[in-house]
Amino acid sequence: MALKLGAKLAWYGHSTFLIRTDAGADVLLDPWIWKPDRPAGAMNNPKCPEGFQPIEKLDAILLTHGHFDHIADTVDVFERYRPAAVVCNWEIGEWLKKQGLPEDAVLQMNKGGTAEVAGMSVTMVHAFHSSGIADGDRIVYGGEPAGYVLGLQSGKRIYCAGDTAVFSDMALIAELYPPDLALLPIGDLFTMGPREAAKACELLGVAAVVPIHWGTFPPLTGTPEALRQECAARGVEVDVVEVEPGAWVD
Ligand SMILES: [Zn+2]
Repeated sequence: MALKLGAKLAWYGHSTFLIRTDAGADVLLDPWIWKPDRPAGAMNNPKCPEGFQPIEKLDAILLTHGHFDHIADTVDVFERYRPAAVVCNWEIGEWLKKQGLPEDAVLQMNKGGTAEVAGMSVTMVHAFHSSGIADGDRIVYGGEPAGYVLGLQSGKRIYCAGDTAVFSDMALIAELYPPDLALLPIGDLFTMGPREAAKACELLGVAAVVPIHWGTFPPLTGTPEALRQECAARGVEVDVVEVEPGAWVD
């Protein structure tokens, strides 16, 4: 990536990233990782290379919504690395406290708000999706799904879209917090596919996009190549950065 972002990202596959800023902050997005001791019936992230674990220390965890493929390992990772903050919406925060997370570690916010987390600004923005939390055999209300714009100390911004459809207010995100890099879902079925993601790139005006939430399961059919073609067809100039699970991008 020609972009001087001021951070590097490690992709676990699906939607999970470790973001390590040049200023020394380590932030984990939507933790669903590979664990050797996963109980029977619970699923490891199929794209996460076995044993991949780039965390050395952790300052914060960010959660976009309550689905298992985004929050599955929040409690385990928290207990292991004790980050200062787990950032999420109000409802997921209340649920996490019931799972044993300490009150002072859960940073609850909602859309439109900005918090200072690990030396960066974290703005919660809109996403079109759902957010129910599977808790035993019940679905618990998990508030509304969200995305985040991270304002790095370098002055650059990363837009983490979470799971979402394309929406025209991405133009507002571009106006208020112009991102340099976007992490956009392209898998289709549960989120945007490549066609919609190309429109999202146009609305956001980003220099680079890392496609996420694709290829994890057979129904998530969107590919970075298809996104490249859709962007070309639309005349959108964006660097589609294809990452291998288990690799760093900087
Ligand atoms: Zn998802």
